[in-house]
Amino acid sequence: MTNMQMEKFGDLELDKKIVSALTAMGFEEPSPIQAQTIPLALEGNDIIGQAQTGTGKTAAFGIPLVQKITDQRHVQALIMTPTRELAIQVAEEINKIGKNKRIKVLPVYGGQPIDRQIRALKNGIQVVIGTPGRLIDHINRRTIKLDHVNLLVLDEADEMLDMGFVDDMEEIIKNIPNERQTLLFSATMPRPILSLTKKYMRTPKNVTVSREEITVPLIEQYYFETRDKVDGITRLLDAEIDGRLIIFCRTKKGVDDLAISLGSRGYLAEGLHGDLSQNQRDRVMKKFRDGSLDILIATDVAARGIDIENINYVINFDIPQDPESYVHRIGRTGRAGNTGVAMTFITPREFRQLKLIERITKAKIKRRDLPTTGDVIERQRELIVNKMEMLLEQGTYHDYMPIVATLEKEYELENIAAAALKFMQEGAKALKTSNSNDNAKGSGSMSNTGARPGMVRFFMNVGRSQKITVPELVKVIAIEADIPAKSIGLINIYDKFTFVEIPEEHAEKVLGVMHKSTIKGYKVNVEPARAK
Ligand code: ADP
Ligand code: MG
Repeated sequence: MTNMQMEKFGDLELDKKIVSALTAMGFEEPSPIQAQTIPLALEGNDIIGQAQTGTGKTAAFGIPLVQKITDQRHVQALIMTPTRELAIQVAEEINKIGKNKRIKVLPVYGGQPIDRQIRALKNGIQVVIGTPGRLIDHINRRTIKLDHVNLLVLDEADEMLDMGFVDDMEEIIKNIPNERQTLLFSATMPRPILSLTKKYMRTPKNVTVSREEITVPLIEQYYFETRDKVDGITRLLDAEIDGRLIIFCRTKKGVDDLAISLGSRGYLAEGLHGDLSQNQRDRVMKKFRDGSLDILIATDVAARGIDIENINYVINFDIPQDPESYVHRIGRTGRAGNTGVAMTFITPREFRQLKLIERITKAKIKRRDLPTTGDVIERQRELIVNKMEMLLEQGTYHDYMPIVATLEKEYELENIAAAALKFMQEGAKALKTSNSNDNAKGSGSMSNTGARPGMVRFFMNVGRSQKITVPELVKVIAIEADIPAKSIGLINIYDKFTFVEIPEEHAEKVLGVMHKSTIKGYKVNVEPARAK
């Protein structure tokens, strides 16, 4: 947010559905390449965009593209990308931008079964994102129709050139109507790319953005005022941080103390400072790079010269001593196509220092409140919901259906699902605290204690007070559940309840029918006896 535009997406004459989708994506304002490209593209110009990775090129072409898509169910836009990863990534971003317009997007790339793509292509796809090789394949098989394409995007054109795709690119372009708009993006402009632009683009407008301009706007900057910083960090870790994090402390001792504090609270954190041997430093850095360590805690000196990509968060546990080191620290995030978040903890006394940093760096550091306990719980819920949604989408749980069918005979599906989630979250621990009736049901294992081998012990809520006798009970169970009377084992009748042993193979049947029945006019409740 240094010297940048104050423009908003709302000022760009965009469909409201797009603006709201962008808000949902967390985009507050256009990045420089977006601010320049979107109006020109909306006017229908051909555009050559030159900008480094991480400058927001996808949305720069994705936003006008989504705006231009009509309801018609044929391929209207084609995007070429060098790799399958990029095709998938771009498809996801276009999907998000077009969410409220319900745009049909399909990535096509080598390595995925072509039949599936062919079937999908017949389904009214409006935007295709593909790698050149696979696109040629579809063109040759005549499984993709390009005669209604009026927008062509070449993303990372120089990469495609480096990968030897130039002939394919040309071949594909020739299959697209001349009456079209063409947008080309490239970090560099080698000669073969320039000649493509001369041959296939019409009076293109040039849009260029340099690296310096872009880094800062994509980093969100916040500060928290708190006296208990360790508590503050753990709240952030529990409620929102998701990704790689570097925490900066002022001193070596600060690094060690925080590493111990976080470690003892169960977080994977390690410190990096000048007292470590080269060997130890290398070991920590390797863990951080390969993802087996989430949190790196460092001093400014130790962090100097380490080069790590993909850092999502920088936390200044101690406010940096000078503005320059602030810029240095936060510059470690928001690189290489990642959005970054920088958060600074201050004590009330350090407020003036924060203002100084803001003034000199021209950064906008917004005040924020720390997440509440409610936020932490909310996050845990969200994570569970996400996991469950993924699994439900995958549909890979059918092996467990018979168990659900069994449980469903006696329990409501909602209760079964909630119990399963509890078990997933807490594991065996979930079975231990069983003093309420509810918990006992949740732990209703069929091999409860107290019964002899091969038998299951049941608890029934009727007893001597209801004038129940052993022969009566045997008769009712044998008849209701249709099992041999002599198979029924030990029966202990007490004042208000009764224990009955049933052979394992009949246990389910007895549970299934008995809880609906009555004995001497009393509604019977049967459940597996609880382990003590
Ligand atoms: P490029 O293609 O130039 O390498 P991307 O399009 O992949 O860059 O964008 C880099 C990252 O920045 C992505 O995570 C993207 O979601 C994010 N981003 C793009 N535009 C904005 C914006 N206006 N505000 C916030 N984040 C953005
Ligand atoms: Mg890109």
